[in-house]
Parts: sequence; structure tokens; C-alpha cells
Amino acid sequence: MKTTISLFWQDLCAPSVDSVAWALETVFPVCVVLESARQPSRQAFDTACGRYDALYLLNELPEQLSLWLVAEDISYPGYGCLFGAALRNSAVVSSARIGFGKNLQKEACHELGHLLGLGHCPNPCIMNKSRNPQKLSSKPMALCPECAAQTSNNESPNQQDMVRASNDVVRHEGLEPPTDRFEVCDSIH
Ligand SMILES: [Zn+2]
Ligand SMILES: [Zn+2]
Repeated sequence: MKTTISLFWQDLCAPSVDSVAWALETVFPVCVVLESARQPSRQAFDTACGRYDALYLLNELPEQLSLWLVAEDISYPGYGCLFGAALRNSAVVSSARIGFGKNLQKEACHELGHLLGLGHCPNPCIMNKSRNPQKLSSKPMALCPECAAQTSNNESPNQQDMVRASNDVVRHEGLEPPTDRFEVCDSIH
């Protein structure tokens, strides 16, 4: 049984939804469910920096494994502009700095990798960390053999239950400040 990922998108990202879903299902053993358009709330806008707060957006997503494509510029204090971020079961990817093409597909795959338990990888690999759009363009839209082995090991029928269980533990503790569980990816300082 494949892991299911719920995909949401801001209206401006609608033309990229199919290509991103295709990329996610090509790189990972997952089934993508196209959920619905979802617009960032006004409360998520950080007037201090003029961008949307990535952590706020992550916490607006439902509890199942979810990935949200937004067109707004996103950031987190101390990290500058982000291409994407992931926390527990939720990931957000922004097209603002990387456009709607292949780099958006790659960044979505990178964040999904985090949702599935992968960390950053030094190999030529989608899980390699990118600090600028050029680096994102140059990395392959594929997992290296080591990361691929990890995701296939995770492909057990119980995986979603395990993810939910760990999510429950964290949620009982309330919203945490960013820790190592908050994966900031591909940021420009
Ligand atoms: Zn790798
Ligand atoms: Zn990352």
C-alpha cells in the first residue's frame, strides 16, 4: 500500500499542480491526492518582513501528510527567504524565488523527502540542500541509491500509522519553537 500525500495549492500555482504531482509520484513510492485550492490566510503574513511566515502556513495544513504549493514569498525569522519548509506531516513550497517549472517540482520532491523521514544528503540527490536557484537547477530530480533504499524500507503498510502516532505526540506538546524537527530548506539569507 503506497503512502498517500495530500496536495494543496494557491490559485496562482494551479497550472503547476499536475506536473508537481507527477514528479512526486515519479521520485517517491507515493500516491498524490489532489485536494483543493487553498489560499494563505492574511494572519500568516508577517508585516515585519513583508513575507508569509512559513511556520504559520505549515500549521494551517490538516494533520494528514500534506504539501502546499504557494506563490507567496515565504520566510522564517533568522532564515531569510525560503524555497520550502517541512514540519512533522506538513510541507510548504514557494514558487516566489524559483518559478513554476522544474525547480518547483524539485523543491516539492525535496520537501516530500523530509515528510517521509529523509534528511539532507551530500550526494548528487534531490535531498541535497540548495542555497540558491542555480544549485536547485543543477541537482538531479531523483534520489541517490542510499536515499532510495531508505524510502523503500519505509514503504510498509504501517507507515502512515507511525507518522500519525508521532504527530500525535508532538501535537500534545503544542506548537514548538523551531527545533531540528523544523527543516528549513534551500534558503537565501
Ligand atoms: Zn541522497
Ligand atoms: Zn531540506
